[in-house]
Amino acid sequence: MNLILFGPPGAGKGTQAKILQEEWGLVQLSTGDMLRAAVAAGTELGKRCKAIMDRGDYVPDDVIIGIISDRLDHADSARGVVFDGFPRTTAQVTALDTMLAERGQKIDGAIELKVDEAALVGRVEQRKLETGGARGDDTSETLRKRLEVYRTNTAPLLDFYRAQGKLSSLDGMAPIPQVASGLRHVLEGLRGH
Ligand code: ADP
Repeated sequence: MNLILFGPPGAGKGTQAKILQEEWGLVQLSTGDMLRAAVAAGTELGKRCKAIMDRGDYVPDDVIIGIISDRLDHADSARGVVFDGFPRTTAQVTALDTMLAERGQKIDGAIELKVDEAALVGRVEQRKLETGGARGDDTSETLRKRLEVYRTNTAPLLDFYRAQGKLSSLDGMAPIPQVASGLRHVLEGLRGH
């Protein structure tokens, strides 16, 4: 089973993707985590992306699509994947469909974590405290930019999955276990198909 988690920055995609990984054995593919690992390792790719990420913009599609394509070739991806932070643009949606089709796979479901934008500022501030400011993009100015980029580029992609009957929406403002339980229902429904 292959899933996508959608939601603005701070919606809880990473938290829920990790729970899905533990409960369902799905592999979490977080493009944000992969990019941060590249930055930390000081690779060419990391150097190219750091400034873009720090100002809250999206890194180029070809970079992201390359990373995901490599990752899908790993054997563990065949168990099923939860995409966290990908796709975020129309080009990425198209590329994902093609990459999965080439591997005899497809997206089974997309889940939107709906959140109140005003509350996200508080969440991201909290994350900053908890991580000691490890993420260069967790500042309130960058967050505003990331929210705007999400609204413009990524939120419209939900229509694509809605039109295919694959989209579910969950209240991302609910406590973590409640969101996780909502996801469990969605996955059970998908599995029953
Ligand atoms: P968040 O969901 O909180 O914005 P992520 O960790 O998913 O955080 O992403 C952090 C940053 O990494 C993004 O602001 C962007 O610069 C870059 N990034 C991650 N995934 C993508 C993607 N699919 N396309 C373009 N840029 C991406």
